[in-house]
Amino acid sequence: MMEYIATIAAIATAPGRGGVGVIRLSGKNLLPIAQSISGGKTPEPRKALYTDFVDANNQAIDNGLMLYFAAPASFTGEDVIELQGHGGPVVMNMLLERCLQLGARLAEPGEFTKRAFLNNKLDLAQAESVADLIDASSQSAARMALRSLKGSFSTHIHALVDNLINLRMLVEATLDFPEEEIDFLEAADARGKLARLQDELDNVLAQATQGAILREGMNVVLVGAPNVGKSSLLNALAGDDIAIVTDIAGTTRDTVREQIVLDGVPIHIIDTAGLRETSDIVEQMGIERSYKALQNADVALILIDPIEGINAKTASILSMVPPSLKRIEVQNKIDLRGESAGVFYEGEAERASVTQASTLIKLSAKSGEGLSLLREELLAIIGWQGESEGLFLARTRHLNALKMAKTELENASINGYDNIELLAEHLRLAQEALNEITGEFTADDLLGVIFSRFCIGK
Ligand code: GDP
Ligand code: ZN
Repeated sequence: MMEYIATIAAIATAPGRGGVGVIRLSGKNLLPIAQSISGGKTPEPRKALYTDFVDANNQAIDNGLMLYFAAPASFTGEDVIELQGHGGPVVMNMLLERCLQLGARLAEPGEFTKRAFLNNKLDLAQAESVADLIDASSQSAARMALRSLKGSFSTHIHALVDNLINLRMLVEATLDFPEEEIDFLEAADARGKLARLQDELDNVLAQATQGAILREGMNVVLVGAPNVGKSSLLNALAGDDIAIVTDIAGTTRDTVREQIVLDGVPIHIIDTAGLRETSDIVEQMGIERSYKALQNADVALILIDPIEGINAKTASILSMVPPSLKRIEVQNKIDLRGESAGVFYEGEAERASVTQASTLIKLSAKSGEGLSLLREELLAIIGWQGESEGLFLARTRHLNALKMAKTELENASINGYDNIELLAEHLRLAQEALNEITGEFTADDLLGVIFSRFCIGK
């Protein structure tokens, strides 16, 4: 029985007004639809056709370009039509209505890319990078997403899988000859092959970790007593006035967030409400939100007035910072104390930290002195090594799969030749983990999750 494939349609351009708006259709045999919309013309594949787009009564809805890509030479691998009309919401919706009238249904988010994946036009890592390219929050992230889209990440994974398959064939072949198996594996240098595979995997993991930092960025939470300068520091880092700065303690009632980009890495900074006990209901809500922000943070910037030290209030604030969070202590307002800016690490003599944070930075949010030290330290603390050639954008999902494969290879190497069947099983599991990245053995529900996060029209 032939599988029924619905024709899908969506407005592919961003909502709102624009110079040009694009409607995209994908499905089987779209020429009849193309002819109906163009008033009887037949578009040639890959040639722009300038035409009216007409309704059921042959009245023009709009005019523009029709592009026709015949299967399988298209983004989705199916017939694809793009209608480039005028980018007003009313016109676009009328055109979309017309497509639906002609038998198309509305595309779900990511459905075009999902079809491209299902038709082997892209592997899963590439499909994800389509979304990453669209969502890229910095130029570096966009460059890396494009590299992944072109397959540079997948190429690394495929190389790993190929070498792994070679090793597995060797190991599984010996299972049939139990008497000589050890000699056989030793002669074929199975141990050396496994060690090299582990090295290669470590390399890819290191690169993917950098890519994930670039994609996910970092969450930074500002904590500290009222008036210590949290809002001022946030403004100084962001470069404009987004938080309210006043001399009255407790002015920043709500968490205020800002995203900045440091060396290509998106950094989400949240200014807290001061995290102190209060009966004020508005402030109470802010505190709850701050508490949540702390649970999702990577780094806590703890602002301290070194003269006042830690009073009871500040101590109770500090007790809310999860122990696992990385901490940077910031002693602000050095301009008032005539100190100079600097970074101090644990164990340094001149360091007088009041919070036991591993790093202490002295700066002035007002004069800007020491801010660059803080920026550098933030990047260092999450392990960012700077953009390098060949880096690709990676997701947490990819990192988890790589780590799983790494563990299985370690198990295989620890297990050694003692139990060949176990060795074979660990290698098989390692391959399964790697295959999840490119989507070779991916469960349907995972696909659903991945593609539902796309925007409509992609
Ligand atoms: P928050 O309550 O922790 O958010 O503190 P604010 O950012 O609102 O700052 C409280 C007061 O301290 C304001 O009057 C700021 O202008 C002042 N302030 C903040 N940072 C500095 C600094 O580095 N030097 C000086 N001299 N004043 C500062
Ligand atoms: Zn504030």
